[in-house]
Amino acid sequence: MDRKGRGVGTFKAIRIDKTEAGQTVALGEFDERDLMPGDVTLRPQWSTLNYKDGLAVTGSAPVVRRFPMIAGIDAAGTVETSSHPQWKPGDNVILNGWGCGETHLGAYAQQARVNGDWLVALPRGLSAREAMAIGTAGYTAMLAVMALERAGLAPDRGPVVVTGAAGGVGSVALALLAGLGYHAVAATGRPAEAEYLKGLGAREIIERKELAGPVKPLARERFAGAIDCVGSTTLANVLSMIRYGGCVAACGLAGGMDLPASVAPFILRGVTLAGVDSVMCPQPLRRQAWQRLAESLDRAKLASMTSEIGLGQVIETGRRLLEGKVRGRIVVRIG
Ligand code: NDP
Repeated sequence: MDRKGRGVGTFKAIRIDKTEAGQTVALGEFDERDLMPGDVTLRPQWSTLNYKDGLAVTGSAPVVRRFPMIAGIDAAGTVETSSHPQWKPGDNVILNGWGCGETHLGAYAQQARVNGDWLVALPRGLSAREAMAIGTAGYTAMLAVMALERAGLAPDRGPVVVTGAAGGVGSVALALLAGLGYHAVAATGRPAEAEYLKGLGAREIIERKELAGPVKPLARERFAGAIDCVGSTTLANVLSMIRYGGCVAACGLAGGMDLPASVAPFILRGVTLAGVDSVMCPQPLRRQAWQRLAESLDRAKLASMTSEIGLGQVIETGRRLLEGKVRGRIVVRIG
């Protein structure tokens, strides 16, 4: 054992293995020699739990496409060794996506080896823990806000609805929209979380079921825009309720991957449906999103939506997240 309690040449990680009996997941040891190629070796200090991590650690969807895998799509940590021109030992960095935890060994580990082109410098003023309280969920919420802005949305255009509001993306989206002066509407299946959602800046709370009924091609024009974490019938209903010239940023599938919609909102109201992807998002847009998060996300609101777990609780918490029982954001302590 070394001073930090790691076996020499091995480190602790959440491993997903495939055996004849199926997929197994456990907190175990990983051999350094089995790390995948990369020009930067990192020591992750914090990670987080996203919807995709929940899918990976429970095996509920075929997220993992290489075995053995280390789960975890997000890390904030310190560069240990680097042959990449941009990074040197001691640099504080953020890693989001790029297939980590899916096709490349991921972040729930005391060590990670990655491509230096994937990393973003930890913005000044943001701690590694805060960066993971934001995580892919929060950075996706910012990408969604930026997509709405590119489509011309502004606070004076009218209310913006956030679906899946009490989840990770939804919670950060509400805080961001409120901070920018939008009239943010939270759509939730957990009305008991109304006070929490108002605390993040929601001016109105609507029940999830209002967006879950049969879809009309066009419905009453209720919202100027939307950030949708749910997909399926919810997204189709939201599209039918968008005001003339409005925009929906679609980023999630918590309610399903289908989209039972008509083209009516697009061709009769000039509505834009903007797709949001965090995994392969180009670096300039990523850096811009992280910079804006560091500058504008209310830290007190971030703290109010964040709870902390250790590596040993990731698997069980991932199960609860998929059951819709986790509120806001979870940070995972690794260091
Ligand atoms: P969470 O589990 O934290 O939040 C999802 C929320 O969706 C829940 O809290 C719940 O909100 C709502 N919800 C869950 N199940 C249903 C259902 N059957 N019908 C309607 N609403 C439901 O996940 P995240 O916030 O981390 O992620 C949200 C979505 O965004 C996921 O689908 C995820 O895969 C996707 N995502 C996509 C990214 C991208 O790059 N495009 C990046 C990050 C996430 P409530 O209780 O308030 O109703």
